[in-house]
Amino acid sequence: MLALMLARRGVRVTLLEAHRDFDREFRGNTINPSAMEVLKRLGLEGKLLKLRHAKVWRFTVQAGRRHKTFADFSRLKTWYPYVLMLPQARFLELVAAEAQRYSNFRLVMGARVKDLIAEGGVVRGVRWRSPGEDGTREVRARLTVGTDGRFSRLRRLAGLEAGAAGGSPPMDVFWFNLPREEEDPEGAGAVFRCGRGSLLVLMDHFEYWQVGYILPKGHYARLKEAGLPALRRSVAALAPEFADRVGTLEEWGEGSLLSVESDRLRRWYRPGLLLLGDAAHVISPVGGIGINLAIQDAVVAANVLAGPLKDGRLRERHLRSVQLRREAPTRLVQAAQGLAQRWVVAGVLGSRGEYRLPLLLRLLLRAPILRDLPARLIAHGAWPVRVKD
Ligand SMILES: Cc1cc2nc3c(=O)[nH]c(=O)nc-3n(C[C@H](O)[C@H](O)[C@H](O)COP(=O)(O)OP(=O)(O)OC[C@H]3O[C@@H](n4cnc5c(N)ncnc54)[C@H](O)[C@@H]3O)c2cc1C
Repeated sequence: MLALMLARRGVRVTLLEAHRDFDREFRGNTINPSAMEVLKRLGLEGKLLKLRHAKVWRFTVQAGRRHKTFADFSRLKTWYPYVLMLPQARFLELVAAEAQRYSNFRLVMGARVKDLIAEGGVVRGVRWRSPGEDGTREVRARLTVGTDGRFSRLRRLAGLEAGAAGGSPPMDVFWFNLPREEEDPEGAGAVFRCGRGSLLVLMDHFEYWQVGYILPKGHYARLKEAGLPALRRSVAALAPEFADRVGTLEEWGEGSLLSVESDRLRRWYRPGLLLLGDAAHVISPVGGIGINLAIQDAVVAANVLAGPLKDGRLRERHLRSVQLRREAPTRLVQAAQGLAQRWVVAGVLGSRGEYRLPLLLRLLLRAPILRDLPARLIAHGAWPVRVKD
């Protein structure tokens, strides 16, 4: 997204992507209202909505027979009062294709960054390598932006330090898919099912169900030891409507363990280098807002940096300005996630009997002014951002 926005503003950009395609299982497949507004501004929302997608209007939590909507997007004042679900690969292909319309944009797939080129304490670019090829190649640049995700190599190479954010997440998630049947309800959206000591997330992906089985941090070995039949029984107890198809999960390898982390760099930049998205702040999956935050980082970075990059007057203060503008909203979102983790996730995972949402939370969700806070935070982050032209 940053590469596209900079290319539109006439900046010469090279984008290096380690993989040869964008297809990867178990990635966030959500586009939140604020990201939709950014895409509209870029003239992309029409093309996006033509791709096969589902719309999620609300997030619901179920404990026993009680249902509670904790985020109702349909009440928000926005052009897009829903979370759009579509495979992340299709979204990235669309953005990359749009960027490729600009002759000043270059995309190199299968280019894994190995090293920073640093001269006199200033980052001047990177060295990268293609799998199966000998030797490294270089890209030199006025600015290198590290958007290499939660295991960021650039973060490590730059020696930038992170502190824990929003409280240490007490959970991990085992993701897997279950088939969707024709008679399954349409528009079920995202449902969180709370059981005795277990929590299940069901996301309707229109072709299949993406299921997240949430477990206490570090308990995956125990889950595996108990065996797949035990996991299937636990899933069927939380989602009896899937009892007929949990058997389709035949191997642990069909799923993927997400070790949930949350942190934030103290400093997001060095001379010649800026980190953004998960590379600057690893986001817990609570609320599904990591993609939105990363896109908002990209919008702010493009707004602040495009002019100075184009005119060759980029200074360290511009990089500091990006961090200053993005740090507070990131802190706020991570603090809210920490609260949800402590209040709800830890409560459910630690419960021996039937789980009930904390009274204070139930009251908050009833208060007219406060009840839309979770939906707003998921939809827009701490506050909306606007693409500058
Ligand atoms: C299992 C899972 C489920 C999630 N679900 C959701 C969700 O539903 N909604 C949501 O909003 N967020 C979700 N998230 C979080 C979300 O995916 C991230 O917050 C978001 O993708 C961050 O975007 P990013 O661009 O910073 O990093 P990423 O999307 O991680 O992109 C990093 C890119 O850098 C590339 N890369 C890495 N190293 C190198 C290198 N050395 N050289 C070149 N390229 C490199 C990677 O291949 C990748 O394409 C989920 C995360 C996980 C792991």
